[in-house]
Amino acid sequence: MSFAELGLSDKVQQAVAASGYTEPTPIQAKAIPHVLARKDVLGIAQTGTGKTAAFTLPMLTMLEHGRARARMPRTLILEPTRELAAQVQDNFDKYGINHKLSVALLIGGVSFGDQDAKITRGVDVLIATPGRLLDHFERGKLLLTGVELLVIDEADRMLDMGFIPDIERIVKLVPFTRQTLFFSATMPPEIQRLADAFLHNPVKIEV
Ligand code: AMP
Repeated sequence: MSFAELGLSDKVQQAVAASGYTEPTPIQAKAIPHVLARKDVLGIAQTGTGKTAAFTLPMLTMLEHGRARARMPRTLILEPTRELAAQVQDNFDKYGINHKLSVALLIGGVSFGDQDAKITRGVDVLIATPGRLLDHFERGKLLLTGVELLVIDEADRMLDMGFIPDIERIVKLVPFTRQTLFFSATMPPEIQRLADAFLHNPVKIEV
């Protein structure tokens, strides 16, 4: 399987080539065509498998059509920690080098002002930790009704860190008709229950 066969846009393929990657990792080869086909995906994969590019590359392709509106992010990625959220942002910077997309990071420990200003201008990709996202929502500055695609990453770590009630609240704030990508390294019963609740007819991928 080559990157050219996955259905990614030319711009994304150029960025991937510039990264020096010669072929997709198994999670990328299996997930990307389904993400592009707007299917929900349940991915059971550890960090280090190329999981981040498995969602950022097709998201960049899909976001080439349409544009962001004020205060209504088009896509939302939930991460358990600031470090992971920042790594996802780095991926968008690297693979989105040929795009003019607006990417915002909502994490704790950073002032609300700059984050608010970015949201107000409109963002294509919002990457957030659950608590800080809900803080912004409660301040009335953020609308989640325009979210077309939701990524819940590292779900088992979210569970360990006590974020599941926050995640359940956030999922109720995004449209029911969104596309959802759900990743976890392990699938304990509580995570399976969440996957069943959040995903519609998902493709299950295990690597
Ligand atoms: P991740 O599992 O998303 O944390 O990615 C692990 C590492 O693999 C990162 O440093 C990526 O830059 C790298 N990577 C992702 N996709 C590929 C690929 N197709 N070929 C080579 N390296 C990759």
